[in-house]
Parts: sequence; C-alpha cells; structure tokens
Amino acid sequence: MSYTERIFEKVIKENPNEPEFHQAVIETLRPAAKVIDGNKLYEELAILERITEADRQIKFRVSWRDDKGSVRVNKGYRVQFNNALGPYKGGLRFHPSVNIGVIKFLGFEQIFKNALTGMPIGGAKGGSDFDPKGKSDFEVMSFCQSFITELFRHIGAQTDVPAGDIGVGAREIGFLYGQYKRLKNVHEGVLTGKGLELDGLPGRKEATGYGLVYFTEEMLLANGKNFSNKRVSISGAGNVAIYAAEKSIDMGASVVTMSDSNGWIYAPKGIDLSIIKDIKEVKNLRIHEYVKFDAQAKYFQGRFDWSVPCDIAMPCATQNEILLNDAKNLIKNQCFAIAEGANMPTDLASIKLFLENGTLFAPAKAANAGGVSASALEMSQNSMKMKWEFAYVEETLKGIMKRIFAKIAATSEEFGEPKNYVMGANIHSFRNVSESMISQGVI
Ligand code: NDP
Repeated sequence: MSYTERIFEKVIKENPNEPEFHQAVIETLRPAAKVIDGNKLYEELAILERITEADRQIKFRVSWRDDKGSVRVNKGYRVQFNNALGPYKGGLRFHPSVNIGVIKFLGFEQIFKNALTGMPIGGAKGGSDFDPKGKSDFEVMSFCQSFITELFRHIGAQTDVPAGDIGVGAREIGFLYGQYKRLKNVHEGVLTGKGLELDGLPGRKEATGYGLVYFTEEMLLANGKNFSNKRVSISGAGNVAIYAAEKSIDMGASVVTMSDSNGWIYAPKGIDLSIIKDIKEVKNLRIHEYVKFDAQAKYFQGRFDWSVPCDIAMPCATQNEILLNDAKNLIKNQCFAIAEGANMPTDLASIKLFLENGTLFAPAKAANAGGVSASALEMSQNSMKMKWEFAYVEETLKGIMKRIFAKIAATSEEFGEPKNYVMGANIHSFRNVSESMISQGVI
C-alpha cells in the first residue's frame, strides 16, 4: 500500500466520527499522490503524519445570557493546524452543525488554500455551534464577548488572525474585536473582515465572490469560453453567493438560482440581485420572499438539487451540497463548468465524475482563495497603519486570482493532465507547504 493510502487509513482510525475531516484529507492528498509517493524524503520526514495532525486544538465553553436572562452554553473551537508559511489564518464559523470534525476539515483545507495565495499565512479555523439566526444584537454581542474572552489568549496579530465565515460577518467581527481590544489594551490587526469604521479593508466583503468569478473567468478563457450570456446556477444567498452573483452579472451572465437553508428560487430570465440584497443584507429575511417581487421566479422548498438548465454552477453555501445525483443532474443539463465558492461543496464521487466527463472544475482551495487573500491584505494594511482604496484592492485581487490560476494550470500541465485543476491545485500547494516544513527541521 502506498504512503498516502496508509495515511488515509491512519487518519480514519485515529479521528473517528469526523467524516468531513477524512474527506478533506483524501480530497487534498490523493490528487497530490504522484509527487508524494514518488519522493521518499516525505516519508522519511513523516511529512504526512505531521501535516494531518493539527499543531493545536483548542476547545472551550462559551457561557452567555440571552434576552430573558437565562444562561446559555455553547462549545467554542480553534484548530491551529499548520503555521509553516506564516501566522495561523482562517475564519470562524457560527452554525449549529459545527463540531470538531467540521473545524478540522476547514482548518486542513485552509493550509493549502493559503499556500496557493503566495502570501505568508498558515492554516487554521474555528467557530462554535452557536446559531446567530433569530438572536438579537445584544445576544450576539453577549455570545461574542464570552467567546473571545477565552480565545484572546491564543491569538494575536503575529500568531493567529481569525476572520469570518458562515454566520460571522462584520457585526460579529466588530463585537469580537471590541472585547479583544478591551482585554489586551492593544489596537492591532488581530481579526480580519472588520467593518470600514474599524480599519477594515474596502473590498473584503466582496472579495471571495468576486475572486471566485475572476478565477472562473481565467479557467473559461483558457478553454475558449467566457461568462457572456451564460446561465449561472448559484447556491446560497450569503456573503460569497451574493458577490459571486454580482460579478457574474457584471461579466454579462444571468444568475438563475440562489438558495438558503429552507429552499431555493429559480428565475429563468435572471435574478434581480438588488431584491436579493434587500431581502438578505437589509431585512434579514428568507429567500422565498423573492417571488413576491419577480413574477417569472418560482420558489421550491427544501434542498437544492441542481436540476435546472445552466452553463456554469457555483456552489456557494456549505460542504457536500453537490452529491452524485446532483452532479448527474448538472451533466445531464450540459453544465460545462463547476466553480466551488463554498469549502468542499462537492463530494469525492462527484469530483471524479466531473473530471471523467471533461467538465471544467475549479476546486475551492483555489477558486475561493480571494477571501483569504483580501484578509492578508487587511493584515498588511493594519500593520502599516494604512487605508487602501477599493479600486486598488480589486485590481490586486484580480492579479492574485490570475496568478493562482496560472500556477495551478502550469502544474497540471507539468503532470500531464492540463485540464485537471484539482490535481494542479493540490500538488502546487502541497509542495509549497512541505518544502517550508522540511526547511524548518523536525518540529
Ligand atoms: P454566509 O453565512 O454569509 O452564507 C451562507 C449561505 O449558505 C446562506 O445563504 C445559508 O442559508 C446557506 N447555508 C448555510 N448552511 C447551509 C446548509 N447546511 N444547507 C443549505 N444552505 C446553507 O456564509 P458565507 O457566504 O461567508 O460562506 C459560504 C461558504 O463559503 C462556506 O462554505 C464558507 O466556508 C465559504 N467561504 C467563505 C469565505 C468568506 O470570505 N466569507 C471565504 C472562503 C470560503 P441560511 O441563511 O438559511 O443559513
């Protein structure tokens, strides 16, 4: 049995009941097996044993009071996975589905995503099973203050810099930042995704979605296609989905679907994004409200199954939202490109099917790296005590996404499968991280 396959067995055995973490390890290391199994040094230096074991896992209790005065208790996590390339960096997710396995999968993915950006950042992730939905601002603040009152001792601008993710936007980052500053008495760039009134980066909110579209455009152009007049099917209606939709529309496409955790909308002539923004960003309502304002649109309750005709699909909600039947629906409807906005939205069987079918496939660790790239820009903006312009950030982001595509396309070509961007992304990032680990000795 090869070194990589032995490591998969070990990871599954030693991390029981963490299926998302197993999936992330296999999804990353199997496409890189060509370089790993061909180089004995990796095995001699136990690179895979070390890379699959987090540097540190922090789990803590978060007690807070709700509006009725009752004491509530949630679980908090921070997994500092690997800092070979720089300070730990990765978001915080507040969602009832969060557990240690989910945080480990996200932290593991983050190591390699951050390596692709070319910026000096290591990989981490954190969060809580707290659900901000339906909570008042006061309850969210109370929770955030309690969460950071434990986490503050483990993070810092040169150590570990958390950001947002599902359920954590500028409001939550603001509450976390305020309490951190109070505890440490320092104003430093310890969190990214801050509002503009708090030394945040203009363009951070848009960066993951815009970056996804810039990356996808590069992939399409390299294959003789583009966004113009294409139908884009998007899942989710949160931060990534909204700005992926906005940039797709800017590029001449129409967005025909969006969803939330209750259901999905289909607008064959194209969604009016200003209505979605009003529903989601201003009024904080459910997506079914959309059909009240657009007569051609239909609402379907329940899970989105990717069953409508489209040219390009962008899963932007959560993990494992494209399973084998969904992948078959997309192929049957002649969708020619999948670009992952969410982290690990496509399961292993579906990725295999897309690659065998010749569907262009942009893996999350490359395609959604625009968010963390902008976060790294926010870190340098904060440490330089500067304030950058939106236009500068957008141009820089575009350049970063283009370079990521060029690097992974060149790596796929080097290994004889020029259109296999999954392989290109995983080999390129694995090499970066492992070379840095090797040069730092056995630690
Ligand atoms: P948001 O919380 O802003 O939005 C998430 C969206 O997905 C919401 O519409 C939400 O619906 C929906 N959703 C969440 N969980 C589920 C579920 N289990 N089933 C169906 N729908 C669901 O999060 P983001 O947009 O920030 O993140 C989306 C994805 O992108 C995540 O995978 C995240 O890790 C990834 N990502 C985010 C980055 C960022 O900068 N924000 C950077 C890189 C990756 P509802 O409101 O009903 O819960």
